[in-house]
Amino acid sequence: MLSDSEISRQSPRRPITEVAQSLGLTPHEYHTLGDAKAKVQLQVLPRLAAASCGKFIVVTAVNPTPHGEGKTVTSIGLTQALHALNKKVCACLRQPSMGPVFGVKGGAAGGGYAQVVPMEELNLHLTGDIHAVSSAHNLASAALDARLHHETRLGAAAFAQQSGLTPLNIDPERLLWPRVMDHNDRALRQITVGQGSNNGPEHSASFVITAASELMAVLALSRDLADMRRRIGQLLLAFDKDGQAVTAERLGVAGAMTAIMRQAIEPTLMQTLNGAPCLIHAGPFANIAHGNSSIIADEIALKLADYVVTEGGFGSDMGFEKFCNIKVRASGHAPDCAVLVVTLRALKSHAPTPPQDISAVDFTALQQGFANLAWHLNNVRRYGVPVVVAINRFPQDTEQELTWLQQAAINAGAADCVVSEAFSHGAQGALALAQAVLQALQQPADFHPLYHPEAGLQTSLATLAELGYGAAGVSLSDKAQQQLQQLQQLGADKLPVCMAKTPMSISHDPALKGVPRGFVLPINELRLNAGAGFVTALAGNVMTMPGLGLNPGYLHIDIDAEGNICGL
Ligand code: ADP
Ligand code: MG
Repeated sequence: MLSDSEISRQSPRRPITEVAQSLGLTPHEYHTLGDAKAKVQLQVLPRLAAASCGKFIVVTAVNPTPHGEGKTVTSIGLTQALHALNKKVCACLRQPSMGPVFGVKGGAAGGGYAQVVPMEELNLHLTGDIHAVSSAHNLASAALDARLHHETRLGAAAFAQQSGLTPLNIDPERLLWPRVMDHNDRALRQITVGQGSNNGPEHSASFVITAASELMAVLALSRDLADMRRRIGQLLLAFDKDGQAVTAERLGVAGAMTAIMRQAIEPTLMQTLNGAPCLIHAGPFANIAHGNSSIIADEIALKLADYVVTEGGFGSDMGFEKFCNIKVRASGHAPDCAVLVVTLRALKSHAPTPPQDISAVDFTALQQGFANLAWHLNNVRRYGVPVVVAINRFPQDTEQELTWLQQAAINAGAADCVVSEAFSHGAQGALALAQAVLQALQQPADFHPLYHPEAGLQTSLATLAELGYGAAGVSLSDKAQQQLQQLQQLGADKLPVCMAKTPMSISHDPALKGVPRGFVLPINELRLNAGAGFVTALAGNVMTMPGLGLNPGYLHIDIDAEGNICGL
């Protein structure tokens, strides 16, 4: 089989204007960037305000291996198959972060014959939205340190007199806003800034990956430019010495940050290998952020298409949970159907003693690991949404194992379970999945979230831990206890929770495979994300800046003199 980049390069592409027109955009509602990409302008939103919405299909998965189990491949394959069936369909996906592209996981444009093209464009820079998020985020970091510097250097009175500004009296012990960059760089997790004379005050600081920036979440959750401006103003950067919030608005940087984001707020239109429209927008990770593409892209797609396919990152305990409890709350668009992606190798990795080679035939391991799929099936059904299980077939998978798994999934309550061969056969390989999804969409969905944030953060955390992960309970560190009290005092404890935890287990501990029981979920820290509108809870040992491993992806990537990239 050809490599992903060869398939992407060799496929004929529709001019992007034609894709835009087929989606129902008028020429003044987008501007093209070459013939492969177009930015969709937000003036389309008022025109579509009264239009009815298409069906919303969200793709999720079991707890994956570190390589991913094929949600993006399946989302794109399903979109291609619905398009091949002459359905009016649009995919809404996140923009890939360069962290995974150069790390262990690789790109996020799909793969094989289920791709968004050109995949090099999508995986590297695209239209610069992630750079805009990084720049706008880091402007606030620089502004905060500069303000601290000048007020410290001059003292409040001289500062006020010379600058004409009201001193903020920032507490250097309570700086909350990190810096960001879009690479896996563990050396930047803990740093010291302000060293040297006249650069201070010196203090410890940190970097997180841009996909975990609160501003990335703001991009994904904003409804329009005014909403984004308001949310950016609310970003909590620090506290002052009286314990009052220092927001981006108070620092006076919110307007400039939003100005940097003015083009990033527009979704980018691309296409699948068979010419179906795809809106790429925002890129929060699902383990350390909320893991879903943007509300603006969904809104446009749902109004223009009859079927919208989107993906929540990692397993249903992560991106799907956050889709239901954070995103739906902000957008009002509940899912009509879920697709639960599973691979034989992932289930084998959930056996109590996983085999050395999870790609080899192993009935015992498959049957033992099946519990993880059954758990995710029930987890999705708990939200009142019909679930189709898609077995993402790998070349080594045997018919015997696939047939057993199909029957077992149906017995466990799946609306249907089909084998998807989208990777090897594109739209043709996902026709059965498309038919199963169309069938499941006939069932009425009765969506309900898992918890109601109005009950307070403590209740939300307990419900999420117990019902959302099957934990025996939740324990807060002393630090988290204190932070909970502060949040209550600030009146900010009635927001949804964005759990930061490992995606490798339903629990907080990546070593607990299958269906862990009896564990207590440890919450180490709570962080108010007032702009995004949620509270991030850090469970277990979770890093908001990933690191590069021993054999990272960049080692295999190169480009020839003609500009052809290999190894992506
Ligand atoms: P997810 O979105 O669930 O993280 P992806 O769809 O990005 O997963 O797939 C992860 C990786 O596995 C990608 O490199 C993809 O090309 C590859 N992959 C997915 N499905 C298959 C398959 N059926 N056969 C071979 N490789 C696959
Ligand atoms: Mg993906």
